[in-house]
Amino acid sequence: MLHHDFRRFLNALDDLNPAQIEDAQTKIRDLRRKTEAISEIEARTNQEHKCPFCGDERRQKWGRTRTKVQRYRCTGCQKTYSGRTGSAIGRIHRPDLFMMALRDMLGTSAPQSVRKLARRLGLNKYTVWRWRMLVFSIIDSSSAMSFSEIIEADETYQRESRKGSRKWVRHFADPKKVTPPPCPRWEDFTTQGLKMMRGLSKWQLPILTVADRGGARLFRRLPNRKGVTLERAMKPLVPADAVLCSDGANGYKNLAAAGSLEHFVVGSKPSTRVASGCYHIQNVNSLHARYKRFIQPFCGPATKNLSGYIRWLEVRLAGMQPADILQTA
Ligand SMILES: [Zn+2]
Repeated sequence: MLHHDFRRFLNALDDLNPAQIEDAQTKIRDLRRKTEAISEIEARTNQEHKCPFCGDERRQKWGRTRTKVQRYRCTGCQKTYSGRTGSAIGRIHRPDLFMMALRDMLGTSAPQSVRKLARRLGLNKYTVWRWRMLVFSIIDSSSAMSFSEIIEADETYQRESRKGSRKWVRHFADPKKVTPPPCPRWEDFTTQGLKMMRGLSKWQLPILTVADRGGARLFRRLPNRKGVTLERAMKPLVPADAVLCSDGANGYKNLAAAGSLEHFVVGSKPSTRVASGCYHIQNVNSLHARYKRFIQPFCGPATKNLSGYIRWLEVRLAGMQPADILQTA
């Protein structure tokens, strides 16, 4: 806006009635939120000195963006870019609302459901859902966690879910041609269903939880319930001089035997939870409780997204902030 236009605009403010002043205030607050979010995102993302279009590192300063962030021009391809260009969140149209959604995901209070968050932000629920999946893809690369000294391990279970799958629907539409899928429907999991069906445990997916007393912790979805799978997943996590505490499942026993590890087997009943003194699995048990509390509002996330939810919980427990996420975007 030209300087004298802006003067005129400011002078016009004198004629506003109280309701219009309220409106103008809201509008300005929203604008400020938006520019703050954009500059936060631009300042945090793509700090590498590389052109997002051609990868050239040669560049020169090329003014500033509308949000006062440094813009560059690539010497190689002559294109201009700033921090947000080329990042995973570069194309989001409402960065201010995205930042609010991101803060909700990482806040200290429980995250809201997609539906509720969408209503609060005035957005379509599919937009919020896409953003959540986008954040999942950013946090996907879990850093290598290392454990030492007294290491606790145990598994918790998450019911298999094919939320969004059309397999049963297709079967019922044409039972002669389309065979039923080999998995139970959610109705089969009701108390009555459990009595009628055997082998439902097959559809409970194991999630391995490992923690040491130094605060390192990990959740990992295991592909199946076999002892050898568990052993293979545990092996790189437990150094040779560590002490293992577990419920004594075969995977843990074999791991300890193969590596001559000191291994304390702890019962799952309350009276047997502590083998002796500091040898217990109460930290992983409390992680399981946190997992259940965390996952419960999502009413059984689709199995294909389960790893994303698990990683989300890890990120929350680690106290990651929106800025940390933006840096890897
Ligand atoms: Zn370039």
